[in-house]
Amino acid sequence: MSANEDVGLRVDLTGQVALVTGASQGLGRAVAARLAGCGAHVVCLARSADKLAQVVAGITDAGGAAEPLVCDVADRTAVGRALEHIESQHGRLDILVNNAGITRDTLLPRMTDEQWDQVIETNLTSCFLFCRGASRMMMSARYGRIINMASVSGLIGNPGQTNYSASKAGMIGLTRSLAKELGKRKVTVNAVAPGFIESDMTEALGEAMLKEVKKRIPANRLGVPDDVAAAVLFLASPAASYINGQVITVDGGMTA
Ligand code: NAP
Repeated sequence: MSANEDVGLRVDLTGQVALVTGASQGLGRAVAARLAGCGAHVVCLARSADKLAQVVAGITDAGGAAEPLVCDVADRTAVGRALEHIESQHGRLDILVNNAGITRDTLLPRMTDEQWDQVIETNLTSCFLFCRGASRMMMSARYGRIINMASVSGLIGNPGQTNYSASKAGMIGLTRSLAKELGKRKVTVNAVAPGFIESDMTEALGEAMLKEVKKRIPANRLGVPDDVAAAVLFLASPAASYINGQVITVDGGMTA
């Protein structure tokens, strides 16, 4: 079986509403497709309207249900509007996947305030805002699944990524604390920490660096977005009801 083939997870999310941030490409796109493939109505959120339209068309062509939601997650007002839209249109939010993220890599002595702020606001503050809005809806429904897209950088660090690693470690801390707050209400909060996954983000590392990276991965390959989407789907499923406050690493064994 190739890494791109269907992993055969059978999950029924019929009637559930999911929000995936950063769904216009890469990991978010794969997550949105997986959730929709299992019957969820997926709200696909990102800044690029054109790319979102393609993602939604792909899902609906395959028989799934999805809608685009254009929003800059670094804009607090826009995030508030997005949450209001979901509540007024759907009256529920069963699954939240905080996946939107950016890197602004450079060594710390050279890092600008702007590079720090952009990464923290896009990756971490947005996670706080969406978790806060979603948890209110999920608590009253007494059901919910929140999955935060962290990174192995947030667990073991990476030179040139102090801002990114701090944002991802922050997401992990938020995940663990919120899990303890919401567990009684049957809402679970978990994180997925991908290693190196084929995407625009990793392509930016360049061929030489990626060759070196591959040597450190026991699986002897980079991951594909669906490797991560499969882990998210499991955590989003009713089957994962007793898994809470955890970080699932998806890295081909790199950090084992
Ligand atoms: P990507 O290909 O660069 O996609 C990033 C996504 O986030 C896009 O859909 C982008 O959409 C969205 N986004 C970025 N800034 C946004 C903003 N301000 N508002 C709304 N949406 C925004 O990255 P990826 O590789 O799929 O990564 C997805 C997530 O996984 C990130 O959180 C990343 O840190 C994490 N991750 C990735 C890897 C990897 O190897 N690829 C490893 C570990 C963790 P628009 O540009 O249309 O807004």
